[in-house]
Amino acid sequence: MVEEELRQIQAQIRACQRCALAGFPIQGPPIFSGNASARLMLIGQAPGRVEVGETHRPFSGSAGKRLFRWLQQAGWDEETFRACFYMTSITKCFPGPNKSGRGDRAPTRREQRMCEPWLIAELTLVDPEVVIPVGRMAIERFFGPGRRLHEIIGGRYRVDGRILIPLPHPSGASSWIQKPGHRALIRRAIVHLAEVRQALGLTTCTRHG
Ligand code: SF4
Repeated sequence: MVEEELRQIQAQIRACQRCALAGFPIQGPPIFSGNASARLMLIGQAPGRVEVGETHRPFSGSAGKRLFRWLQQAGWDEETFRACFYMTSITKCFPGPNKSGRGDRAPTRREQRMCEPWLIAELTLVDPEVVIPVGRMAIERFFGPGRRLHEIIGGRYRVDGRILIPLPHPSGASSWIQKPGHRALIRRAIVHLAEVRQALGLTTCTRHG
């Protein structure tokens, strides 16, 4: 029943034209993966050119390689993680390149607001026990705007009844992840992920209860 509702929402997301109709230079298709039985949801910022133009899988470009290295250190191989868990983002279409030529354009607050109902529907229907917000935009979605990443990353939180373990954006365009002190925070986040994986039995795709 919930699975069918989620399939309907996913079909509506795939047909969504909100940002294009509002004049934003986004490029589809929307990218996400997973089903209603997932006990963990990973939420990024927005897909990139590789995800939208080639693979149609979240985090399958160069940033994804670093992300899956972190997840591997927490105990998950990439295919198990993709098969078991839900992967989505704050905005689900490629926002296009940054004008500076470095990285992708960050979706505007208006685009984030337009896509928010889809994320709320995903969270409601999947109802994950654990959420991994990846990058500033996803972290601010849960912790509020203007928070400093080094004060949040490395921690383990409970928000709306879910465990939250934030990670920084793994993009090579991010200078945050290169700073030595920040690497220690990432290692702490990975330890939290490893502990939660073991404690909740998130080594397989099985849904409890
Ligand atoms: S980013 Fe979200 S709201 Fe905008 S067109 Fe894509 S799916 Fe729709």
